[in-house]
Amino acid sequence: MRRLLRDVGFCKTIILFIVLLLPASSAQSQPHAESGIPKYVFFFLSDGGGMTHLEIARQYNLQVHNEGFVIVDKIMKQGSVGVMTTHAADSLSTDSAAAATALAGGCKANLGALGMCADGTPTISAMELARRHGMRLGLVTNAPVYDASPAAFVCHVPSRRDYAAIIDRYLELEPYVLMGGGKEQFLPKSQPGSRRIDETDMIAAFGKKGYRLADTKEELERPTSGKLLGLFAPRDMSFELDRDKDREPSVYDMTRATIRLLHDQNPRGFFAFIESENIDSAAHISDIASVIHDYREFDRAVGLAYDFYRKYPHDTLIIVTSDHETGGLGFTLALKDLTSTKVSNQVAATTADLKKLQLLDISLQKAAQILGPHPSAEAVDKLMREHFAGFVLAPEFKEAIIKRQPVSRTMFLDLTANTLGLMIANNTQAYWQTATHTNQPVLVAALGVGAEHFRGYYDNADFGKILKNLIEGKPTK
Ligand SMILES: [Zn+2]
Repeated sequence: MRRLLRDVGFCKTIILFIVLLLPASSAQSQPHAESGIPKYVFFFLSDGGGMTHLEIARQYNLQVHNEGFVIVDKIMKQGSVGVMTTHAADSLSTDSAAAATALAGGCKANLGALGMCADGTPTISAMELARRHGMRLGLVTNAPVYDASPAAFVCHVPSRRDYAAIIDRYLELEPYVLMGGGKEQFLPKSQPGSRRIDETDMIAAFGKKGYRLADTKEELERPTSGKLLGLFAPRDMSFELDRDKDREPSVYDMTRATIRLLHDQNPRGFFAFIESENIDSAAHISDIASVIHDYREFDRAVGLAYDFYRKYPHDTLIIVTSDHETGGLGFTLALKDLTSTKVSNQVAATTADLKKLQLLDISLQKAAQILGPHPSAEAVDKLMREHFAGFVLAPEFKEAIIKRQPVSRTMFLDLTANTLGLMIANNTQAYWQTATHTNQPVLVAALGVGAEHFRGYYDNADFGKILKNLIEGKPTK
């Protein structure tokens, strides 16, 4: 959804609220084990990651690699599990902006709003409270850094598409680490590759505030200290299946660098927000293989936080959750074809179907790019031969791709990719209900200081209130 919405245009934005970010004073409560205030907070967000996305990725790890899944086997089994409702104030199916506003600020918001409650009032976020307590902040995503989820954790603007205001807010707030994609909004308008609407050089502006810029994996991994601005792609960073692993860092790579930088000579603790937007983006294009591979990399990143927790168990809180579910994904019983509804024509999903997914070697975004906007029948056949060997493309799907026609009323965001996603479903029984968000409740996994407060069944705005109270050392109920 974000790729479509981002182009809608800029809305006039008024920054209604500026949080006073006073340096921590000795009178403020200090994070430490006895106070119940976590000193090191990890907030992992699998954007669009529903319960079945997690379960399919976990099963894939188990069946294909004979490996466990940190989120389930470590965080959930040793910590707490909650179930969270995600609806927005004005819609049963939320978006990342309204959802992240609830998670970070503790109030229901309308679609598209960042850090603004539905009644028009700005909310102070858990990260802003952490900053008041002198904690270092880290904002990490494989979306553009100004995308809705990280932005809602520190910004207060009515529209998620006011990128300039979001970046200005980052510059004002000075998070210790800010990294992801989105370099095009940091370059002055006249510079090649820029999509800014003015001539401001935001990379230079961050440089003046002492930030080092990293735009490659090699730069990221330099053993330096101090504030870091990481911009690794013009817009979105790559899906794991397509990523140039020598040049572009993954969520795991960015998390490793973030922990090193935030922890370095820091007696006051930190709050790290780490997101995999690619899980949501993959689900929007019905790309189950990318969901799996990007969830696996996200889980490896959570593993780094788990290792950190093992060193500092009395000071660390790890939270892993999602803002909403995307796609209505699930393995199911289906008809082999449309000739009959008899039992003999039904096929159940098995682990063989799951294992078949390891044959897929590119994302469906890449597949759609290879085909281009007007693919010929020969081009579609070639793509199937080279990247989908062992999969069968039904004639009606082939025709839909060539003619650019939707194959269902709920699969329309990327006609080529969504149709290929349904082709994979027909070959593996892993079906998608839609190409957009659903109102399925999501899981919350928590481990460490205060994790017990995230048990139960609650709303995302209540989650935000609990988190803020924990940071403040206040009762959570
Ligand atoms: Zn989305």
